[in-house]
Amino acid sequence: MSTSTPDTAPQHPSLAGLDPSVVAALAAAAGALERLTGNGGLLGEVRGVKEVLAQLAQSASLRQLTARTLANGASLSDSAERLLSADPAAATSAANEVRAQVDGAVRDAAQARRRERRAAKSASVDQVQLDRMRRERDSAREDRNAARRKAEYATREAADLRQQLAETTTALADAQRQAEDAARHLSGLRERHEDLTWLAGALHTTIGRLSRQREERDTTAQRLLEPLGAQLEPLQAALRTLTSAPATTRDLDLRVEMLGGVDIGGSCVLVTAGDDAVLVDCGAGPGAENGPPHLDRIGRRRLTGVVITHAHNDHAGFVPALVARHPGLGVFATPATVDLLATMWRDSAKVLARRPSPAYGNREVDRAVDALTEIGFGSTLRLGDLEIELFPAGHIVGAASVVVRAGERRVVVSGDVSTSRQATVDGFAPSSLAQAPDLLVLESTYGADLAQQPRAEAVSAFVSTAREVTDAGGVLLVPAFALGRAQEVALLCQEMLPGVPVLIDGLAREVSEVYERHLPEGRRVFGGAVRSVARGGTAEAVKTFRGGVVISTSGMLHQGPVLSWARRVLDDPRSGLAVVGYQDAESPGRRLLRLAEAGGGYFELPGRDGGDPEKVEVRASVTKFGLGAHANATQLSQIVQRLQPSGLMLVHGEERARSMLGNRLRSMGHHLLTETSW
Ligand SMILES: [Zn+2]
Repeated sequence: MSTSTPDTAPQHPSLAGLDPSVVAALAAAAGALERLTGNGGLLGEVRGVKEVLAQLAQSASLRQLTARTLANGASLSDSAERLLSADPAAATSAANEVRAQVDGAVRDAAQARRRERRAAKSASVDQVQLDRMRRERDSAREDRNAARRKAEYATREAADLRQQLAETTTALADAQRQAEDAARHLSGLRERHEDLTWLAGALHTTIGRLSRQREERDTTAQRLLEPLGAQLEPLQAALRTLTSAPATTRDLDLRVEMLGGVDIGGSCVLVTAGDDAVLVDCGAGPGAENGPPHLDRIGRRRLTGVVITHAHNDHAGFVPALVARHPGLGVFATPATVDLLATMWRDSAKVLARRPSPAYGNREVDRAVDALTEIGFGSTLRLGDLEIELFPAGHIVGAASVVVRAGERRVVVSGDVSTSRQATVDGFAPSSLAQAPDLLVLESTYGADLAQQPRAEAVSAFVSTAREVTDAGGVLLVPAFALGRAQEVALLCQEMLPGVPVLIDGLAREVSEVYERHLPEGRRVFGGAVRSVARGGTAEAVKTFRGGVVISTSGMLHQGPVLSWARRVLDDPRSGLAVVGYQDAESPGRRLLRLAEAGGGYFELPGRDGGDPEKVEVRASVTKFGLGAHANATQLSQIVQRLQPSGLMLVHGEERARSMLGNRLRSMGHHLLTETSW
């Protein structure tokens, strides 16, 4: 057993901070208890003290509490003295006191610790709550922000809506104002209408009464016109406006005079309104050197233009001479006619050049070509007081009929017409402006021909004749006008006689080249078995052509390569001659037809280029086919029925044709003029 004094006893580190006297007392007590270990009753006490010391070492708050509890040094000293007393009972009592004090301190410490733990726990609970509250706060903040954003959006939307509402309100107000204006306007109109109706009624009544009470006219009118009152002034104003309106007056003096072409050749119609004058056509007369016989009747009138219906010489052949006499004169025609005229005029100049005093030459032709202006079907041309409109006439490519209008008066000049659809051109197609004209100037080429062969029949007759002749190894000669018939027959052969050789000779060759440009889509003159005879190659071709169809100019056997071909064909019994176009009464073609009808014989064939005629025995077949480009009498009557003119003038026909057609139309109730002016 070892002893220790308070001075030398080693200090347990956990006792630091305790009052040294307390530590010393405790140490002394512990030593005393050690020494008493033999006493079983004290051993438990010692262990209790050791436990207390261990607890003291662990808890600062327990140490403080113990220090406070044991502060009473006297009590402790007293307990220590008694602990150290030799009396076991006193020592036990003292130990119990110390133990009780220590137990109390331990309980207090435990209580303090529990409080500490509770406080810590409470703090932890607070932290959880705080976190939750923080989360709630954040969430609330988030909600608030979202709500604020929604509010801002809603505010903006509300502003937009307010704006729209404002605009709608304005528009509504405008619409309302417009509706009110319209209503006022309508009501005004209605009132005016009622006024006018009333006025018309009043006028009607007035006029009725005036006619019944003619003797009292002045006074009655005065009395009856009184209720019109203020309406008179606007009426007078309206009347002044009406009477001052230009070009609507009915009394523009539209006049028509035939300067040529009552018979066939030299067609020329003078149409005037006041001092303005227009010519429709200016053709060459028979023989080509003369123009329209009464051209000088233009007089001092201002010639503002010449309109050409189509490119045939009897309608346009004198234009170069006319343009030479009226420098600056405009020449108007459809595009196809304009294209064809240059070729036709140059050929005429060539023919005229052989005459002693030709009406024109190449220089005049050039100037006439320069004067040409195209006008299409349906478009309106204004020349001074006169308005011109063209519509399709059928006949040949580019052919037009002409409506001339001055104010409310209209005259229609038919030109040459065909109502049948041909291979190269469609039929007559009048415009609405051509309906019910004041005057119709109508061609009558076939006016005597009531029983003309229908076109389909003529075509099939021509085709079977051509087959017969070519099968026999002969040549079928078709004298044809360079412009129109030649191309029509060529297209017929292309279609109906494929493989049969066809030659086109003379002016028809040149014209066909131009003509081809104006044919309906897909149609051509040349190609297949249809060829042209080279320029200057007629003599050679006549010798070498082995059989087929020859189309050659001129159409009435006056001149040209057709005469060389006729010389080969006429006395050949295998060959034939087909007459397909109009033949003048005194033309060689007409003579040949008469000879054939009389049973044949010798035909006096004109010499080429002014050479001597030659007598040829006619052994070939000579046949006429109704393939003309003119309407027959029935078709001409149908045209008149369709247009219903107030007056009618027949031209471009032989005396007999005009007379027969005239009688027919008169019997149908139409008004025919016997004069050549209107
Ligand atoms: Zn013609």
